[in-house]
Amino acid sequence: MVARQDLTQDPELKAALLTARRGTAFFGRKLNELRDAELDAPSLLPGWTRAHVIAHVGYNARAIARLIEWANTGIETPMYSSPDARNEEISYGATLSPLALRNLYEHSAIHLDVEWRDTPPPAWEREVKTAQGRTVSASETVWMRTREIWVHAVDLDNGATFDQIPADVLERLLKDITGTWKTRGQDKDLLLKIAGAPTFTELGDTTSTNPEIITGTLTEITAFACGRPTHGITSSKTTSPTAPRWI
Ligand code: ZN
Repeated sequence: MVARQDLTQDPELKAALLTARRGTAFFGRKLNELRDAELDAPSLLPGWTRAHVIAHVGYNARAIARLIEWANTGIETPMYSSPDARNEEISYGATLSPLALRNLYEHSAIHLDVEWRDTPPPAWEREVKTAQGRTVSASETVWMRTREIWVHAVDLDNGATFDQIPADVLERLLKDITGTWKTRGQDKDLLLKIAGAPTFTELGDTTSTNPEIITGTLTEITAFACGRPTHGITSSKTTSPTAPRWI
């Protein structure tokens, strides 16, 4: 049998797909390390068990696959029928048996990957709409999945850390978050000084005359900006700084 490969030849997109697939492998590895009885334990996300995280990641793959199907067929299929439907699906998913949850994760990840693999170059350019109503090209779905899968692997809270997330993913994630803060006017007088990032050293309110300055490595600042536990960041103004919301 001939090995099946991505239809896209775009090197940037192929690299992005590789990063998403590495994230899937990473999440899958952390999930496999958990015993069935450990799935009901809390995750890093308030109010969510690990089972909620796994269900959400599985349904997210299905939702993103719907966008790729939309791009390929031209028939509009939204990620979720409504925000409530999304939340109900996660609550339901969290009640599934460990085996069903593991199957949901694996099958949805494989399905999404096959959809991506079989998407021809013109369809990657087509516009689809995210759950937040943003119009994006189908190729953006790769990044949408990438940030979900890497960050939620950490949320399983069984040893994965932001240090294990590739630097280019952390950088883009941090730019996404600070960009959202800026759009909503939430970054006033907040300046991030980032050590060890390949392409920037500062983000946030760079024009403030008296900002709160948060200092840390790319890993730590990104965890902070995501609202996840972090060690080793310092603030020029408080002892326990909190980041603005971003989701
Ligand atoms: Zn998520």
